[in-house]
Amino acid sequence: MSIILPAGYAGENEENIDRAGQAPLYDGNVLMHICCGPCSLFCIDEFRRLLPEAGLHGLFANPNIHPYDELLRRAESCAKAADYKHLEVDFLPDYYRAGWEYFERSDEGTQIQGEADEERCSMCYSVRAELTAECAERHGYDAITSTLFVSPYQNHELLKKIFAEKAEEHGLDFVYIDFRTGFRKGQAEAKEIGLYRQKYCGCIRSLRVKQK
Ligand code: SF4
Repeated sequence: MSIILPAGYAGENEENIDRAGQAPLYDGNVLMHICCGPCSLFCIDEFRRLLPEAGLHGLFANPNIHPYDELLRRAESCAKAADYKHLEVDFLPDYYRAGWEYFERSDEGTQIQGEADEERCSMCYSVRAELTAECAERHGYDAITSTLFVSPYQNHELLKKIFAEKAEEHGLDFVYIDFRTGFRKGQAEAKEIGLYRQKYCGCIRSLRVKQK
């Protein structure tokens, strides 16, 4: 499913949403937040298939990834994937362990695990959506989207809400495409072309959970 939420989308105003069944024609320039190489493969293809008139540029902006070596590894894999798909991508070198470490400590406190996870992931989506929207506004893009929408492991509805809000705050359109149908296809392609495929989501907490 693909929906364009125009700049100024009020959250409840269904009139602004094109739900024609087919993807609406859209010829704006879109900045796609890229979380990693494997996730980007299907998203790039699907975006181009659904919105052939739109411009597409990538942005790797993931200060959540820990440790720093892993961030570099995923950035490298993103560069390889972009090369393979002939997509131009910019890289933000931000690395911000402290922000996620705070939640690592709070998980050991009084919070119920599920609540702590949702709060941490909400912060994580907001940081990445803000970096993307801020960059898109500064460089004159019309809209933002994210490869995070391919993952069945993310909180999809929360992600959608946060990206829509950030787009609106920066006067941008939000291109929402539910890429999840192509998750397995993208992962299979990543394997085929030898891309590095990470085993955990990214932050220090997700690494600890994986190590248990
Ligand atoms: S689990 Fe993933 S989305 Fe949630 S905070 Fe960690 S890196 Fe971010």
